[in-house]
Amino acid sequence: MKTSFEFFPPQSDEGKKNLQQVRSKLIQINPEYFSVTYGAGGTTQESTFDTVIDIKNNDTVRVAPHLTSIGSSKSKTKEILDQYKEHGIDKVVALRGDIPSGMQNTGELRYANELVEFIKSEYNDHFHIEVAAYPESHPQAKNISTEIDHFANKVRAGADGAITQYFYNADAYFRFVDDLEKIGIYIPITPGIMPITNYSNLVRFSNMCDTQIPKWITERLKLYKDDKDSLLDFGEEVVLNLCRTLKEKGVDSLHFYTMNRSDSVLSIIKKLS
Ligand code: FAD
Repeated sequence: MKTSFEFFPPQSDEGKKNLQQVRSKLIQINPEYFSVTYGAGGTTQESTFDTVIDIKNNDTVRVAPHLTSIGSSKSKTKEILDQYKEHGIDKVVALRGDIPSGMQNTGELRYANELVEFIKSEYNDHFHIEVAAYPESHPQAKNISTEIDHFANKVRAGADGAITQYFYNADAYFRFVDDLEKIGIYIPITPGIMPITNYSNLVRFSNMCDTQIPKWITERLKLYKDDKDSLLDFGEEVVLNLCRTLKEKGVDSLHFYTMNRSDSVLSIIKKLS
């Protein structure tokens, strides 16, 4: 099973030290790449860049920065990508992002397909481009059919692969992949896997990105929310079973949203193999 791991850029010295330890543990299972998130509107521009370069210089793992286009310009986007290219970075996760509250200007590249098209036009095939996919649909999409059409636009613009929003229902993923194949889209769609380690954070995050947590899972998480050990055990069982189902049905690559922690991710991967 191929694996990749997503981090957010740490903002404190303690956070940086923690991430270094997390990376050194995850490197041992030979991941395909690490990716580093980017605050839409450029809110983490420096810390994302610094984290990416730190990984590039110190780890033996490919690294892919995330880059969002909302609120930015073509020249700013090019400036950032030029810097990455100079440092030998050859993979990006290209996103629209969500406009930060208070920001009025949506920028020159309004949707991710326009960002992909821009990267292709400026850099040809230098960057391997991953984009986001939403098997349960994106919260702003009119319906799943328009979501699939918009996703197809990103592929036609040159996306090489996609990482999904996390989900706890494998059927949503397989139906999404089937729907794409029906319209001739065959790029690798890597499931994004969110370990379950904290009840309130998971609920808050799932509300924000409109990801469904099945009721039978929520009911048990509610029960265990003040019993950390039981919550961790149950969360691991749920996510491990999801990964097993994906693997059994032919998925050969998983992208883990690590939240800069390694324990539960490592445990799941070890049990999976
Ligand atoms: P798009 O693909 O542009 O889609 C956004 C919405 O617009 C969708 O509803 C789509 O259907 C619709 N749409 C597309 N084209 C059109 C059109 N022509 N007309 C009308 N509607 C259209 N956010 C961050 O800020 N930083 C990150 O690092 C980050 N990393 C992420 C990594 C992954 C794997 C995923 C799944 C998401 C990530 N996000 C990140 C969240 C993402 O930025 C948001 O979900 C955002 O709202 C959509 O970005 P997108 O690239 O999917 O946008």
